[in-house]
Amino acid sequence: MTMRIGHGFDLHRFSDDPSRLLVLGGVTIAGHRGLVGHSDADAICHALCDALLSAAQLGDLGTHFPDTDPKWSGVASTLLLQEVVALVHGEGWSIANGAITVLAETPKMKPHSTEMQERLSAIVGAPISISATTMERLGPIGEGLCLAAEAVALLEKDLA
Ligand code: MG
Repeated sequence: MTMRIGHGFDLHRFSDDPSRLLVLGGVTIAGHRGLVGHSDADAICHALCDALLSAAQLGDLGTHFPDTDPKWSGVASTLLLQEVVALVHGEGWSIANGAITVLAETPKMKPHSTEMQERLSAIVGAPISISATTMERLGPIGEGLCLAAEAVALLEKDLA
């Protein structure tokens, strides 16, 4: 059995456009400013995608879904995650698990993290955990200008 770990990071600015929805971990969070991005700007999904791709040595999200391609404009990032899972499986890897840390001053992740975990685990077909921390009001994340997510993912392959 071969194992590979991968890591991903993503950051998005909060938008002043009231029509932008906040989507994180595939869950729409009502009553909060959305994030700026080409897709739905789901930083949790994007970090997890990059963790999976890097573990499989398949490049990163930008390689597969360039933000210059109108095909991916406004797309749900859960769809990108589905594509990434298919790419990883296509190389013969099984996904063991993933773990995400969200860095955000607002909104609080706690009320939504169970739903996010269920949503992402169902797509990935493996346990996905979400933890969160604030930045103690320091820096651009702490000032509420943006949020970020880090992720790790573990892949397994039988070499028999
Ligand atoms: Mg992103």
